[in-house]
Amino acid sequence: MEEHCYPVEADAIGAIDDEVKPGVPYPQILVEIRAKAKEQGLWNLFLPDKEHGAGLTNWEYGILCEQMGRSPIVAPMAFNCAAPDTGNMEILVDHGTAEQKERFLRPLLEGEIRSCFSMTEPEVSGSDPTTLQTRAELVDGAWVINGHKWFTSGANGADFAVAMVVTDPDAPPYTRASMILVPIDNPGFELIRNVSVMGHDGGPGHCEIRYADCRVPEANLLGERGAGFVIAQDRLGPGRIHHCMRAIGTAERAIEMMCERANSRESFGGPLADKQFVQDFIATSRMEVNQARLLTLYAAWQMDTEGKRRARQAISMIKVVAANVVMDVLDRAIQVHGSLGMSDDTPLAGMWRFMRMLRVADGPDEVHKMVIARRELNRAAKRAEAAEGGETAGDGAAPAEPAQAAR
Ligand SMILES: Cc1cc2nc3c(=O)[nH]c(=O)nc-3n(C[C@H](O)[C@H](O)[C@H](O)COP(=O)(O)OP(=O)(O)OC[C@H]3O[C@@H](n4cnc5c(N)ncnc54)[C@H](O)[C@@H]3O)c2cc1C
Repeated sequence: MEEHCYPVEADAIGAIDDEVKPGVPYPQILVEIRAKAKEQGLWNLFLPDKEHGAGLTNWEYGILCEQMGRSPIVAPMAFNCAAPDTGNMEILVDHGTAEQKERFLRPLLEGEIRSCFSMTEPEVSGSDPTTLQTRAELVDGAWVINGHKWFTSGANGADFAVAMVVTDPDAPPYTRASMILVPIDNPGFELIRNVSVMGHDGGPGHCEIRYADCRVPEANLLGERGAGFVIAQDRLGPGRIHHCMRAIGTAERAIEMMCERANSRESFGGPLADKQFVQDFIATSRMEVNQARLLTLYAAWQMDTEGKRRARQAISMIKVVAANVVMDVLDRAIQVHGSLGMSDDTPLAGMWRFMRMLRVADGPDEVHKMVIARRELNRAAKRAEAAEGGETAGDGAAPAEPAQAAR
C-alpha cells in the first residue's frame, strides 16, 4: 500500500475515469500495479478456496479488507479484490458449469477482464427484488432477455454481466428469478449511460442498461433455473463483511488524517488539537471505529465457525453500523480540514462520495433494521410459546428474509 498505492492514488483515480471504456477494463497505471501484486501473490485474496484464491477465512480476509479500504477505489482493484467481480467469482466457483468457468471465471481470476452485476431496475423497488420485471424467455434454445436495469456498477469496460431476470413469472416470489451470464458485446445489450452519481459519471460507471431482445445461449443460465435468490444470498454474506471492513479501513485513515490536521493547524491562538470540540470528534470516532471493527470481525468469525445462516443477524447489524460509522467519521474529518476537506486535494471528499452508497446498496439501512427487529421479535415470540408449552426455547426460526439487491 505504501510503496505502490498511496503514491499514485490520485493519478490512478483520474486514470480510471479517463481511460476505462469498452475493451479497456483497467487504465495503464493500474495494469502495472496489478502485475506487481499478482507477481507477489497478493491476488484473489478473497476466495476461501485454496484452489483459486488465498484460502483465508472470512475474518482473516477481513483484516486485509481493512488495509485495502484505506484506499477504497484503487487498492481493491490493485489486488483483484474489487466488487462486483469478487461476488461474481464466488458464485461462478460455486454454481458455474465447467464451460462457464473456462469462459467467465478463469479470465476474471487471471485479471484479464472485469464483470458487473445487473439486478436493480429503475421502475421497481430494489429493496424488494421480488418485484423485478426484466424477463428472460427460452426460445429455440436461447434466453431472450427484455428489460431495463440501472446501477449496474462497472458495466463500462466489463466483459460480461450477471443479470438477475424473471424466468418463471408464475412461480412463488422467491423462485421467479434466475441468473444469466450475458456478454456485454452481445447484440441487445445496450449500455445507455453511466448514471451521474453525486456529480461523477466517469470510469466503469453505475450504468443504465436496456436489454432489447438480447439472446444468449441456454447454457448461460448460472445454477438452477429459479435459483436467482438463493445464489444472490450466497454472495451477500461474505460481500457485506468485505464492504464493512473496507469502510472501517477508510474510517481509520480519516481518523489519522483528522489527527494530523488537528495537530498541525493553528486557530485562535493554538492548535485545533487543543479544542474540545475537535477532541470530541476524535474520541467519538475512535470509539465508534473500534466498536464497528469488533462487531464486523465477530460476524466474520461467526460465519467461519457457525456458517452463513447463523451469522445473518450479525451481518445485518454490521451493514448498518459500518456504513453509518464511516460516514460520520468522514464528515468529522472533513469538518476539521475545513475548506481543504471539501476540496479534492485530499482523498476525504472522494471517499465520502464513494462510501455514501453503502447506506443504500446491498439493502438500505431501513431494510436491515427491519430484518434485525423481526428476528428479535421472532425469538421473543418463540420464547413465549416455549414457556407456555413447557419446551426449551430454541434460537427461533428465521423470519422471512427480505431479499436485498446484491452487488
Ligand atoms: C452507488 C451504487 C451502486 C450500486 N450498484 C449496484 C449494482 O452493481 N448492481 C445492482 O443490481 N444494483 C446496484 N445498486 C442498487 C442498489 O442495490 C439499490 O439502490 C438498493 O437495493 C435500493 O433499491 P432502490 O434504489 O430501488 O431503492 P428503493 O427500494 O426504492 O428504496 C428507497 C428507500 O426506501 C426506504 N425503504 C425501502 N424499503 C423499506 C422498508 N421495508 N422499511 C423502511 N424503509 C424502506 C429506504 O430508505 C430506501 O433507501 C447500487 C446502488 C448504488 C447507490
